[in-house]
Amino acid sequence: MRKDFAVIGLGRFGGSICKELSEKGMHVLAIDSDEAKVNEYKNIAYHSVVLDATDEDALKEIGITNFDHVIVAIGENIQASILTAVILTDLDIKRITVKAQNDYHDKILNRIGVHHVVHPERDMGKRLAHSFISNNILEYLELSNEYSIVEVIAGKKMIGKTLISLDVRAKFGCNIVAIKSGTEIDVSPEADKPLKEGDILIIIGADYDINRFEKAYI
Ligand code: ATP
Ligand code: ATP
Ligand code: CA
Repeated sequence: MRKDFAVIGLGRFGGSICKELSEKGMHVLAIDSDEAKVNEYKNIAYHSVVLDATDEDALKEIGITNFDHVIVAIGENIQASILTAVILTDLDIKRITVKAQNDYHDKILNRIGVHHVVHPERDMGKRLAHSFISNNILEYLELSNEYSIVEVIAGKKMIGKTLISLDVRAKFGCNIVAIKSGTEIDVSPEADKPLKEGDILIIIGADYDINRFEKAYI
């Protein structure tokens, strides 16, 4: 089933969401108060329109309530972002995602009842920082304050060893959910298969436990 999206604010973040969704065949309505921005997305998005999202009547007029998911990517103008979020939550839009600029903005958006508040710059910074700590950490995804998923290149000490002999779950409390070897990915890795050089492990667990595991083997 196709979903209809509306993206409000075509900066780098909103613009990239709009492009990606459109490339995946989704119908996207691209909205910005700046006509030049809207023109940039004319040939990318399914529809595009110039409007001020803090104008409730203008949003109603374009039938914003018919959209399955509305993404608000207004950045610098926090007031406009909050006003837009209030209008959208009042209209009972099925799914609303708003980009937050800082923690106060986040707090207000949550209080208003926005379903999904995102912090792309902060999260990307965190992910990159983890990848800078060690050349072996390829990806880092925070699941909660305590839990994460990381993608790491198997350390030298692990090559030739099996998950059983490394005893990862019992010793470190984390789970290796998948192992990538070249272009292949094994999503429920056998515990008695020796690891090869260049294997990439996808590990899920508490940050504390993942850290202990990395210190020991990566
Ligand atoms: P990014 O970092 O994603 O590039 P940003 O966080 O710097 O963006 P801005 O450039 O301030 O955010 O805003 C993103 C877009 O939102 C801009 O193109 C701007 O014209 C648009 N915008 C701002 N206010 C409104 C509004 N009231 N209605 C519609 N669009 C708006
Ligand atoms: P457990 O009681 O810990 O679940 P098990 O009875 O399932 O172990 P095996 O599957 O043979 O026994 O695994 C033995 C040990 O190998 C586990 O205790 C664990 O430490 C480690 N292990 C096996 N598979 C994984 C995995 N996917 N991720 C992390 N560790 C694993
Ligand atoms: Ca920005």
